[in-house]
Amino acid sequence: MTTPTARMLLRRRSLLAGALSLGTALTTLGTGAGRAWAADGPLVSGCEAWGARPPKSPVKVLPARAQKILVHHTATPNVTDYGQAQAFALARIMQADQMDVRGWIDTGQHFTISRGAFVTEGRHGSLAALDSGTQFVEAAHCPGQNTVAIGIENEGTYTTEEPRPEQYATLVALCVRICLQYGIRPYQIYGHRDFHNTECPGDRLYARLPQLRADVAARIGGDPTAPVWPVVGTGEVSERVRVLQYLLVQRGATITPDGAFGPATEAAVRAFQKQIEAAVDGVAGNQTWNQLCAPVAQGAAGEAVTAVQGRLTGLGFPTTADGVFGPGTAAQVTAFQGSRGLPQDGVVDARTWSRLIA
Ligand SMILES: [Zn+2]
Repeated sequence: MTTPTARMLLRRRSLLAGALSLGTALTTLGTGAGRAWAADGPLVSGCEAWGARPPKSPVKVLPARAQKILVHHTATPNVTDYGQAQAFALARIMQADQMDVRGWIDTGQHFTISRGAFVTEGRHGSLAALDSGTQFVEAAHCPGQNTVAIGIENEGTYTTEEPRPEQYATLVALCVRICLQYGIRPYQIYGHRDFHNTECPGDRLYARLPQLRADVAARIGGDPTAPVWPVVGTGEVSERVRVLQYLLVQRGATITPDGAFGPATEAAVRAFQKQIEAAVDGVAGNQTWNQLCAPVAQGAAGEAVTAVQGRLTGLGFPTTADGVFGPGTAAQVTAFQGSRGLPQDGVVDARTWSRLIA
């Protein structure tokens, strides 16, 4: 959740009492549409269960798996009402805010976990897409990531307080389910602030993310260590600057990848940061790298591939720098991954990127 919405939700607190009674009525009606996964996931109440309005226009279902999970907090009060009616009321308030105030077609996020650990579907179709394991609903929870990342909102404000243990346990269970369905690795669980200029999901919940990745990894396996990105700014001359420049060119910048971070590169970084609504400081850090380092695999072409090929060669895995990710590049990526103890799948994901520029 971003700050403006949070403020709006706080202003709307007074509406909550009225919405609560409506939620109770809906519960009584027993429209219990949702999914329960006895073995590996929590019950999720679908849009019809909590009384969602229809979307303004059809939601976009992408024929692709989600690549990562972004954790948010709603920045609403840390209520002590842990009932399902509160969860349903929150879902309706968020949808109304996002459709009426922000002008979106529907709820922004895919799922919400209430303080009482009830899970609701956000954007229509999110649950069916998750069940398919092969489709993904385009959302509106983080600029630059809405076509690749699942967004999970956690009810509450976690700047100085911790989520309730029940809420956190449900977050773990939901992440496990999503990771299994989409083949997401536990390290690919991030906070909203890793991509966007926001405090979300609050300092305390953000500080729990290494534990969350580890708890998910304990259930499904894999190394939960998230990438660590360098801070690269004006004056630096290096191969990682060259990678940065190639990635910026891939996103439309007109600069020369010469490995020297000068005024043109700084301007390109600022323009990109503005475009993806990161903090605009002209220095490539966590948000900039996370947004730039999209996965590339066999079949891809362009400057990002050229950057990969250049680094592979520089690190002792000679690769023709033709900008086309063919079998030869895939073989060298796989060899490089083996040398660094990474899963050898030939896909340059965020962790492989981070090792290429380390
Ligand atoms: Zn957020």
